Amino acid sequence: MKFVSTRGGEKVTGARAIVQGLSANGGLFVPEKFPKITAAELEDMTELGYPARAAKILSKFFDDYDAKELAAACEEAYAKFEGNDPAPLVRLDDGVYILELFHGPTCAFKDMALTLLPYLLRKGCDLCGIKEEVLVLVATSGDTGKAALEGFKDADGVKIAVFYPNDGVSKMQKLQMCTQDGKNVDVAAVKGNFDDCQTAVKEIFASAECVAALKEKNIVLSSANSINFGRLAPQIAYYFSAYADLVSANQIKNGDEIDFTVPTGNFGNILAAYYAKRMGLPIRRLHCASNKNNILTDFLQTGVYDIRREFYKTTSPSMDILVSSNLERLLFEISGRDAKLTAKRMNELKTNKFYSVTEEELAKLNETFDGGFATDEEGVEAMYDVFVDTGYCMDTHTGCAMKVAVDWFEKNKKDETNMVIVSTASPYKFPQDVLYAMTGNDVKDSFKGIKRLHAATAMAVPKCLKELRDKPVRFNKTVDRKKLFEEILEFVK
Ligand SMILES: *Cc1c(COP(=O)(O)O)cnc(C)c1O
Repeated sequence: MKFVSTRGGEKVTGARAIVQGLSANGGLFVPEKFPKITAAELEDMTELGYPARAAKILSKFFDDYDAKELAAACEEAYAKFEGNDPAPLVRLDDGVYILELFHGPTCAFKDMALTLLPYLLRKGCDLCGIKEEVLVLVATSGDTGKAALEGFKDADGVKIAVFYPNDGVSKMQKLQMCTQDGKNVDVAAVKGNFDDCQTAVKEIFASAECVAALKEKNIVLSSANSINFGRLAPQIAYYFSAYADLVSANQIKNGDEIDFTVPTGNFGNILAAYYAKRMGLPIRRLHCASNKNNILTDFLQTGVYDIRREFYKTTSPSMDILVSSNLERLLFEISGRDAKLTAKRMNELKTNKFYSVTEEELAKLNETFDGGFATDEEGVEAMYDVFVDTGYCMDTHTGCAMKVAVDWFEKNKKDETNMVIVSTASPYKFPQDVLYAMTGNDVKDSFKGIKRLHAATAMAVPKCLKELRDKPVRFNKTVDRKKLFEEILEFVK
C-alpha cells in the first residue's frame, strides 16, 4: 500500500508516511486506496481480542511492516491498558452504547494510537534506512502531549518535545505533562491558544532553515500529531472492534448498519470512523459533536469553513479548536481526490480565513455526516441526565457527544439504528467539571475533585491519576511562539 499527499506530488510507503508525518508540500498522507475488510473477515474478528483486531486493520495499510511483528507490537501496546479490554463497549440503554477509549496510560483516547506509534516510527526509520536521531515535535491541546510523552519516553534514538498553549489546557492535563519522567523529553507552554501553538509547530516543519539546522546535528523531525497517518490507522481499529463486540453480543447481525457520535476537535477520531466505513464497516451515519467552538457544525450545515469567529475556552478543552487539520483528508475525498482543489482550499483558509465546498460536495458530505454542538451548560445537562437515569458517569467531552446524540434521538424518534457514542476521556481527567455536573459541587482543587467524584460515583480512580499527586514538577517554562525553535535547539544541544 502506497500513500499519496492530499496536495499532490508525492507517493510514499507506509513507513515513509509515518516517519515524515507531513508531505513535503504541506499536504497530509492518505492511503492510495482504501483496503477492504469483507463481511467474512469482520465475522472472524468477533473471535479475536483487541490487539489482534488492531493488527488485522493495521496490516492492511502497512504491508511494508512484518505482520507478525506488527501483531506483537499491538499486544505489547495494549497490555499497557488497565483492565482486560482496551476498548470496552458499555450498554447505556436499548440500542445505545458508549465506547470507552480511556483505559490507557494517560486516561484519554489518544493512548489508543500513541502507545503504538513509537513502534511504527522506530520500525519505519529502519525500513527507510534512516540512521539519524528522530525528534518528535508535538503541539497539544492537552491529551496528545501526555500520551505522546508516555509513549516515547526513554525510547532509543528518539527525543520528544511537547508544546501546549499556556491558556488552554486543564490543570490535570498540565500537571500530567509537567511531571513527565524520562531522559529524552522536553515540555514547554507556548503563549496563546491551541491554534497559535499548532501553527508555530507546523511552521517549524515547513521551514527549510529549521530542518537544515537540525540535519546538521544529525536529527530528523517527525510528528506525533493526529495529522500523522500512524496516529490515524490505529484509531480505525476500534470502530471495527466496537462493531465486532455488538455482533458477538447478539445486539446486531453482521451487516446491520450502525451510527457513531464522536466528540471532535482536530477531526482525527471521526475521520478514522469514516475510513472504517470506506473500508467496508457497515456504518450508516457519523454525528460530529463539537463544543461551543462549533465551526464544524456550521461547516456541515453550510459548506463554508470560516475561522473568522470568536474562540471560546470551554470545559472540554481538547475540543477547543478552530482549525481541524484532519478535515483536509475528508475534503480530499469528497472532492473526488482532487489534490489541486484541496491545496487551493487550504491556501484560501490561510490567506482569506475561510473556504467553501460546492453544493454537490456538501450533499455528499451530508450523506454520511451531520454535526451538532453542546455549550458547557448543555453538556452538564446531558451528563447529569444519563447519571440520574443509568448511574453512568462520563467526562465533559463525551458529554458534548451525548447532547448531540440525544438531539438526534429527539428528532428521529422512530430510528432503530444502534448508536455508539465514543467516549474520549476518563471522567477523572476533568474531575472538577465532572463533579460539578454530577453534584453541583464546586471545588478548587483537582485532587479534592477526584476524591469527591469517587464518593459520588464509586467509580475506580485510574492509577496514573492517583499517582500524579506525589510526582515532582520537572517542567515549568513558557516560551514565546516566535522563540519555539530556540527552545528546541536548546533541548537537543
Ligand atoms: C483529542 C481529544 C478529542 C478530539 O479528538 P480529535 O481526534 O482531535 O477530533 C476529544 N476528546 C478528548 C478527551 C481528546 O483528548
